[in-house]
Amino acid sequence: MLPEAEPFSAAWLQGVVDALCDLSSKDALTGLVNRRSFEMALSREVDRVARSGESALLLVLDIDHFKAVNDTYGHAAGDLVIKAVADAIGQTVRPMDTVARVGGEEFAIILPSCLPTFGVTVAERIRERVAAMEVPVTPAQSLRVTISLGGAFAPQWVRSSSLLWMERADRQLYRAKAEGRNRACLESQVESLVSAEEKGMLFAVTQQESE
Ligand code: GH3
Ligand code: MG
Ligand code: MG
Repeated sequence: MLPEAEPFSAAWLQGVVDALCDLSSKDALTGLVNRRSFEMALSREVDRVARSGESALLLVLDIDHFKAVNDTYGHAAGDLVIKAVADAIGQTVRPMDTVARVGGEEFAIILPSCLPTFGVTVAERIRERVAAMEVPVTPAQSLRVTISLGGAFAPQWVRSSSLLWMERADRQLYRAKAEGRNRACLESQVESLVSAEEKGMLFAVTQQESE
């Protein structure tokens, strides 16, 4: 939407720049951060955790049996469900968390400064909120859906990569689906799950710094 200020004034130009930034970083259906922007945020968080040693959680989630929603009620109803799930997530997390739509009915959340003991609580809170909501898809019909979540903490003090972090969270999501859906699975032993590749990255950094 074009800004209301006097055309070509500084305020108007700033409004145009803001609108373009929104278009390139937000998902049109849900208003959440889009995949491209999420990947940049995830890389920034990897750097921050490596520097600060703070714990951060990455959650990935996927709507259960969503094809059946589309097949039974149509694509437009499916879109309403995606939007409702997006809103529910947004209402459950902190303002500092990044919520993104990373695929059709797949979402990811970056939770900086999230202690391991809090991870399960927040994942369960999101799961319960989605399971409890009714989504009106026609004036006469409402639907209920469930989600599965996977979560992984960034290995602290290790220069990991956003790709490896994402793979870890995805593995947990896969486990949640395989164990029956409508559940959250989080990686438990962060330390022991640091891969040889990640340890190699830390070693490479230490070596460079000592030269
Ligand atoms: P599972 O429990 O294993 O996740 O089963 P599922 O049926 O949800 O399987 P999957 O996650 O692979 O389903 C994705 C479906 O989402 C397939 C595709 O038709 C639908 N989809 C993808 N993007 C959109 C969208 O923007 N709108 C709608 N309505 N449907 C979408
Ligand atoms: Mg999916
Ligand atoms: Mg699905």
